[in-house]
Amino acid sequence: MRYISTRGQAPALTFEEAMLSGLARDGGLYVPETIPQMTADDIRALNGLSYEEIAFRVMRPFVGDGFTDEVFADLIAKAYAGFGHNARAPLVQLAPNHFLLELFHGPTLAFKDFAMQLIGQLFQEALERRGERVTIVGATSGDTGSAAIEAFKGLDNVDVFILFPHGRVSEVQRRQMTTPPESNVHALALDGHFDDCQAKLKDMFNDFDFRDSVRLAGVNSINWARVLAQVVYYFSSAVSLGAPDRKVSFTVPTGNFGDIFAGYIAKRMGLPIDRLVVATNQNDILHRCLTGGAYQTSQVHPSISPSMDIQVSSNFERALFDAYDRDGAAVAQLMTELKEGGFNVSQGALQALREHFDSGRVSEDETLAMIKQANATMGELLCPHSAIGVKVAEDLRDPATPMITLATAHPAKFPDAVEKASGIRPPLPNRMADLYERPERVTRVNNDLAELEALIQERINK
Ligand SMILES: *Cc1c(COP(=O)(O)O)cnc(C)c1O
Repeated sequence: MRYISTRGQAPALTFEEAMLSGLARDGGLYVPETIPQMTADDIRALNGLSYEEIAFRVMRPFVGDGFTDEVFADLIAKAYAGFGHNARAPLVQLAPNHFLLELFHGPTLAFKDFAMQLIGQLFQEALERRGERVTIVGATSGDTGSAAIEAFKGLDNVDVFILFPHGRVSEVQRRQMTTPPESNVHALALDGHFDDCQAKLKDMFNDFDFRDSVRLAGVNSINWARVLAQVVYYFSSAVSLGAPDRKVSFTVPTGNFGDIFAGYIAKRMGLPIDRLVVATNQNDILHRCLTGGAYQTSQVHPSISPSMDIQVSSNFERALFDAYDRDGAAVAQLMTELKEGGFNVSQGALQALREHFDSGRVSEDETLAMIKQANATMGELLCPHSAIGVKVAEDLRDPATPMITLATAHPAKFPDAVEKASGIRPPLPNRMADLYERPERVTRVNNDLAELEALIQERINK
């Protein structure tokens, strides 16, 4: 299995190389050259298996020879052992033919643990075998950073630095980043916005002397291995509702288009999925694009669903690559236009996208109302992101087809919004109930590249 770039100009890589490098050298994203197929019998055979066994069967063909069967199965087992639910991704019913896939039972209470916990294991194994060490630097608005720290803490071949905007993440998110005591974890509170954090990260990747000297690696959602790990729960949930002998649909609270793109890969592999529904908050560039064809950026408007406050959905490039019949030059052209503010998707490509994707947008007031309504009538306390999914699903779903809405975070991760909507302050699960008592360790940093690079050099050379 080889991986090619969406912009057509970078060399093809193995799974392991694509995972360790993250972004392609031509600025594109890696995608598999061909999509492995699962037959109806292969899918039927998943029925009744554990999450880990399903994960092995779904991901194995993508991973190649770098990892043996035995090692890969062992890494999957380690990745999910720390989850607070034996089903890993349990399904609960909300209404007739509407189901919620709870993806928030991992160590940091958001779906990002599914991918991050696994790539922590994969990185460690690959680096040990190669006798290499990397420095992971990430920028976060909250959930990615906590998931990355939790996944890479204590691993021997990795230092992990997370930049978050000082004073602009929720207290739970901050504490999840600042309380792990392991010495290879470095939480950096930057004086600035999330965009400043992301800009500094890009500057570091573009400073080749620095990049090479610390062996910089990235684990943001453009890393193919993260998308792959998310394909698994589309299979596990669909099979438990009767796939492949019954079609299902999915609604996905969407920001960077990584999670829903994993659903599209599941469909391309042979899972009978009817609709894939993109649910956005007021930052609705994807909804506007899928309805009108114009992908036009504007300012980010902060919302009560901060993990979806995104104007440029990086993984959308992967969907465009297929919609343009895998024409890397066409995608590169669109991305050049994006730098000037936006582009229009061609009629043919828009039609190709609409064959798979629907979309809806939810306002702040509608989000709060949905949290309240779901608590009153569905017996479920939703986080704001998940509420956006449930609202769009209720508006658009075909009652005859089972709809699975992805619950992307635990309500206790966003207690203020949930309390405002429902009057209930959701408690943290028992296993992390002492989070508010654990000592914090964080370094305040200025929004200054040279200072940041010096700090990272100093910390890793200790
Ligand atoms: C990251 C995140 C999302 C958005 O996922 P994408 O893969 O970026 O589309 C939605 N909800 C929560 C809680 C998240 O942390």
